[in-house]
This record gives sequence, structure tokens and C-alpha cells, in this order.
Amino acid sequence: MEAIPFMDLGQQIKSLESELNAAMQDVLMQKSFIQGPAVERFNKEFLRLHGGAFGVGCANGTSAITVALRALNIGPGDEVLVPNHTFFATAEAVVEVGAIPVLVEITREHRQMNLKDAAKRVTDKTKAIIPVHLYGLPEPMDQVMALAREHKLRVIEDCAQAQLAKWNGKPVGTFGDIGTFSFYPGKNLGAFGDAGFILTEDQKLFEFIQRYINHGRQDKYRHEFFGSNYRMDGLQGAVLSTKLTKLAEWTERRRELAKAYDESLKGYRVLKPRAESVPVYHLYVVEVANREEVMETFKKENIECGVHYPIPLNAQPAFAPLGYRAGQYPVSEEFAPRILSLPFFPEMTVEQMQRVVKVFRGVAKA
Ligand SMILES: *Cc1c(COP(=O)(O)O)cnc(C)c1O
Repeated sequence: MEAIPFMDLGQQIKSLESELNAAMQDVLMQKSFIQGPAVERFNKEFLRLHGGAFGVGCANGTSAITVALRALNIGPGDEVLVPNHTFFATAEAVVEVGAIPVLVEITREHRQMNLKDAAKRVTDKTKAIIPVHLYGLPEPMDQVMALAREHKLRVIEDCAQAQLAKWNGKPVGTFGDIGTFSFYPGKNLGAFGDAGFILTEDQKLFEFIQRYINHGRQDKYRHEFFGSNYRMDGLQGAVLSTKLTKLAEWTERRRELAKAYDESLKGYRVLKPRAESVPVYHLYVVEVANREEVMETFKKENIECGVHYPIPLNAQPAFAPLGYRAGQYPVSEEFAPRILSLPFFPEMTVEQMQRVVKVFRGVAKA
């Protein structure tokens, strides 16, 4: 029985093997291991392909959010609205700068941030909101921006899972003050290690960000303010530039595969992108009533799957000191035990999908 992986990074590497080797060799010959020409080139190319005025590669997607918060002067005592259903890092960055993450419930319909609940949680300390384009499905950015205007909130878009996604024809990450990206190896565009990106339409913010990630440097020896070291490696810049040449094609394939899954999973609840969006399907998520049983069957059948994410933030041990506990967020807590991420990657074949669907249908209860 052929094993079906959850994703297959090996095939991506194989398809670009000589290009990747040449690009990495260049960096070695130039000995520009930190930032340097390969990263500068990637910065330009990523902006051109994704869209956005200013941007810079950085160490990873978590520190991209940390730096964004610093650039917006958010710190101790400030409150930041964060969706309760997201990857832990979205809230972690808020804590890292000394601010307080305020968890927002998700909606029954789209399983995205409930903006009415967000509005109820605004206090005079609330400084920002972080919409997350989770799974590569854009949040309704005009509604998020309207809420932000009404309550004078800064907006950081967590685009870690949403490279090339659009809302109303405009790239995600360009609606708010700052957009942040992750190139963790398993993301739609993945490095050979940790890497991230920070995007903004504001030149002043951009200048601060560029310096902040490089020790607050003005030039080699002059430090204008206290920043930190959140730079991207030269090798990652070279790898990312090379893989970027295929990102549009891979993304299109993700959309085709998602459509094929949608059609073969009629009768089950799957996540649907909003009509105004161009989704990029980082993951393909389906809801089931008997997840344990489905996962056991997949295991016996040699099919890999995942859960993103099984524990909502309010039920995470780390959130207990902030006053959160299980039972406070009924919609996210009903959703988390039901979700299953099916095998999903651009190189997936029709035969592989057919087998996943057959095994799934044989056991999964809607
Ligand atoms: C991956 C991810 C991050 C963190 O990115 P890293 O590069 O792993 O630090 C943040 N937010 C979301 C939604 C993510 O998926």
C-alpha cells in the first residue's frame, strides 16, 4: 500500500535541484551569509510577485510580528486583539513585546475572527488587531479595516499562510499598517530553515523596520536606537528566490486540488473561502464528528494527516495566567476537535486524492 504523505517537499526540491544548487553555491562563493545581495534580490522579487510597496526579509514569521508590534510602538499595558483560533505564534509575539493578547471568538459560518466579538472586547487600552489569513483563506479586510478605523486600532495582518492571497483584488498584507509572512519550510513558499518577511505601504515604518532587524543600525558602526537581530540569511534568500519562480504555478495547483477535494467531499463541512477573496489554500481542512477514528484509519492505511490546531488559545496552559481557561469560547472549542487537515501539496496526484477520499468517506461522520 503506497504511503501518502501530508506534504512532499522532496518533490519541490527535485524539480529545482540544479537551480537551487547554483543559487546556494553563489552565496558560498560571495560569502554573503547574512542579508547581502541574495536577500536584496529576494526582497524585490517577493514584492513584485505578491504585491506591496516596501518589504524586507527577516528571521522568521514570529519575529516578523514582534518587529511589526515594535514598529507600531505597542508595548507594556497595551492590548492587542488576536483570533482565538490561530497558530500560537500570533499571540506569542504580542506577549514578547510586553503587551496583552485579547482573544477573539471565531464565527460559526467562516470560522474566522468574529468582528462583533472583537468590538465588544475593545477597551481604552486596545491598540491593535491582528487578523490572520489562516489556511490561506483571506479575512474580510474591508470589515476588519472598518472596525480598526472606528476604534483607532493599528492593524497587523498575519499572512504566514497566505503568500499571493488577495482580498477584493488587492494583496493581503497591504490593507493594514504591516503584513507579516513566514517561510517556514512547510509554508506555501518555504525556505531551507527559518525565514520570514515584513511588508508595509508606509516608508517611515519600513525604514524603522529595516534598522530594527539589524541592531538599530544607521550604518556599520552607528546604532540609532536599540533594535535586535532578526535578519534573513543569504542562503535562505537564494533558496526563496529560486522557489519563488514556481510559487504562482504551485498556488494555482493548490486551488485546483482544493476544488477537486470540494467536489469529492460533498456532504461534509469544508472551509469555504469568501467570494471576495483569492485564496491560496495553505491547508485543506475538513470537519468531522469522529476525528480520532478517522485518524486511526488513515494511520492503518499509511495516509498522513494533521490537525491545525487542536487546542484553541484560550485552552492553552500558557494563557492560564492571563485569565483564560477551557470553556470560555464555545465556537472555537466546538471547531477545534472537529478539524482535520487532509494530505495536500501541489504535486499530489489524482490517484492519491482518490484514495484519500475513498478511505475518508469510508469512516468519517459529517
Ligand atoms: C507559521 C506561522 C507563524 C510563525 O511563523 P514562523 O516562521 O514559524 O515563526 C505565525 N502565524 C501563523 C498563522 C503561522 O502559520
